[in-house]
Amino acid sequence: MNVFSHPDFDDHERVIFGCDPQSGLKAIIAIHNTNLGPALGGCRMWPYSSDEEAVRDVLRLSRGMTYKSALANLPLGGGKAVIIGNPRQHKTADMMRAMGRLIESAGGRYITAEDSGTSVPDLKVMAEETRYVAGIKDKIGVDGLQRSGDPSPSTAYGVFIGLKSAVQYRLGRSDLAGLKVAIQGVGNVGFRLAKQLKDAGAELWVTDIYDDMVQRCVHELGATAVAADEIYSLPVDVFAPCALGSVLNDHSIAQLKATVVAGAANNQLELPIHGEQLRQRGILYAPDYAINSGGIIDVCYEHLGNQNAGALNQHIESIHDTLTEIFARADREQRSTQVVADQVAKERFSNPEGRLSNLTHQVA
Ligand code: NAD
Repeated sequence: MNVFSHPDFDDHERVIFGCDPQSGLKAIIAIHNTNLGPALGGCRMWPYSSDEEAVRDVLRLSRGMTYKSALANLPLGGGKAVIIGNPRQHKTADMMRAMGRLIESAGGRYITAEDSGTSVPDLKVMAEETRYVAGIKDKIGVDGLQRSGDPSPSTAYGVFIGLKSAVQYRLGRSDLAGLKVAIQGVGNVGFRLAKQLKDAGAELWVTDIYDDMVQRCVHELGATAVAADEIYSLPVDVFAPCALGSVLNDHSIAQLKATVVAGAANNQLELPIHGEQLRQRGILYAPDYAINSGGIIDVCYEHLGNQNAGALNQHIESIHDTLTEIFARADREQRSTQVVADQVAKERFSNPEGRLSNLTHQVA
């Protein structure tokens, strides 16, 4: 298996392969770039069908974290860890402790967090062996109340801010009363987004694969329930994907009547060309990793021990400025918002001089 000549290898600073035969741990940590700070990113546990598949995932995901943190103006780099195995069958406390030791061996260059297949209790076990774990402490949320390490409320708040920015940019309105929004997936983030939109006067259409999630929106928020395949073609202003990746593809883009796409889901574009297709159809797309960065901002504040809810809110609200810069530059340069987001992120992490002191000051 190749690493240095792998198509997803992008000058990653370190790729650490770890094995602990006693607990059965086989894991990889990829540290993509630490120009702006230590590499923070989740630890995923997944039954990869081959080592190659795990390497591909960890290389791509760690690179994505560098871009996400840079775009969110955080003093963090990008990294990710993967554990090869089925979380329902193979996960044990011993394995999580072995993972903690592997993370510790990176000497703080990599900080882990929750991801698919790992949970806050797993991270707490890793934390018995390493200091470099984020997202496990109770904290004050955006609403001023004590809450767990779950970053979903901050993600939802950031998506709400970003959705408003996109609406203001494309539709020229700052008031959401009567705005029509279709939400795909009303779980942790989607439901909270729906609630904020409802409070701001928007009209909602929702779908989810679980009927109880949909009914909660119907009864508590007066939303209209729609079937899964109807969500794309609704005559609404905004489509908010908050469920799964690759939802913006040839099939869905052709159906969209919304002129704004702004939602929480990761990796919304099936292929880079779909960003361009949206642009050509006159649909303003808020790049996923820019609009859903409230969660990483939240985890970063926790990691830095910053309990100032006002400062956290303000930082999340800066998603508005980043998105507006991306939208304006995409228009000027006649390029897709995704391409421009990548460019802005790259500029931020490639030229850290002069930024870090500011950032540290901003977050401290
Ligand atoms: P979640 O699992 O709580 O909610 C997702 C919802 O989508 C679930 O209710 C699920 O039933 C529904 N769903 C799945 N497939 C669907 C389909 N085909 N059609 C309609 N509904 C479907 O997850 P979440 O934490 O709310 O995250 C939502 C998205 O946002 C994910 O893509 C996640 O990666 C991304 N994201 C989340 C956070 C966070 O802080 N939770 C941060 C950044 C990005």
